[in-house]
Amino acid sequence: MNWFSEFAGRIEHDVPLSPLTWFKLGGCARHVYRPAEEEQLARMVGRAHGDDIPTRVLGAGANVLIRDDGVDGVVVRLDDAVFQKVEYQGERVIAAGGADLMRLTRECARRGLAGLECMAGIPGTVGGAIRMNAGGKHGAIVETVSSARLLTPEGDVEVLRVEQLGFGYRRSAVGPRIVLSAELQLRQDDPRRVLARYEDIWERKKTSQPFGENSAGCVFKNPPGESAGRLIDEAGMKGESIGGARVSREHANFIVTRKGATADDVLRLMDRIRQTVRRQSGIELELEIDIW
Ligand SMILES: Cc1cc2nc3c(=O)[nH]c(=O)nc-3n(C[C@H](O)[C@H](O)[C@H](O)COP(=O)(O)OP(=O)(O)OC[C@H]3O[C@@H](n4cnc5c(N)ncnc54)[C@H](O)[C@@H]3O)c2cc1C
Repeated sequence: MNWFSEFAGRIEHDVPLSPLTWFKLGGCARHVYRPAEEEQLARMVGRAHGDDIPTRVLGAGANVLIRDDGVDGVVVRLDDAVFQKVEYQGERVIAAGGADLMRLTRECARRGLAGLECMAGIPGTVGGAIRMNAGGKHGAIVETVSSARLLTPEGDVEVLRVEQLGFGYRRSAVGPRIVLSAELQLRQDDPRRVLARYEDIWERKKTSQPFGENSAGCVFKNPPGESAGRLIDEAGMKGESIGGARVSREHANFIVTRKGATADDVLRLMDRIRQTVRRQSGIELELEIDIW
């Protein structure tokens, strides 16, 4: 792949991905690319597409499980300052795709910009949150998004309004595109009130989830009108383990891992959970996390 020489210094080869994920699991990426500007990224993505080289983007790795044998092709990381920029323009916030969501959520609350505090305690990047329509019982990111700039696999930039982004429960129409930035519309409120709501949601999250352990958040989506965590709990799976992976005792929809665990342990445990829940309730659980 001689075209790599053009991106020298920004491409690394055979890079372990486990430190880049919240599960701390998985094999290597054949190539990791860290662009320093959008044009460079567009050029690389377009080239890779033309040469049939798969390209994926990894945010903070808070919602992915990477298989033990790793991934082929190029993994893009938006960790240069250019891709983490946030501009505050009154009630409008323009956040780059690689911006840290927890930092953004806290800063908006501190400024009294209301709307994003429902995201308190959700780790990841803005791009990952848009892709997954991250959220919880207090709301989801869709409620604040007015538009997003996306990079297509061909290397073209397009701007989609919220209604074109196909948001639904933990899904969007982003597909193979890369979120370069998102425009959020918030409401100016009293900073003390917004901060209090933010802290309240954050506190509840900390006490109901195994935050200090390695996980990727909720493993399964909630089936319509049901709670995946409750179904797993009722199936008697709390504390169940395979190898170094275990169903959390604090929140049954979390799989937590300890040192020495493999991605295969997690995959096998997921299968066992699905089978047990299907047998006991007749409900088929659908994955929320992304498996690479
Ligand atoms: C302790 C814990 C608690 C959590 N709680 C919640 C919760 O309450 N609610 C919730 O919704 N989620 C929760 N999650 C899951 C996770 O925080 C979200 O899904 C988050 O949005 C993932 O963002 P990320 O940047 O880490 O994405 P990654 O995990 O890196 O990637 C996830 C997917 O998004 C894609 N992606 C990443 N960046 C971009 C981009 N710039 N453009 C296009 N696609 C991109 C990736 O290719 C991948 O398909 C939790 C996770 C943990 C570990």
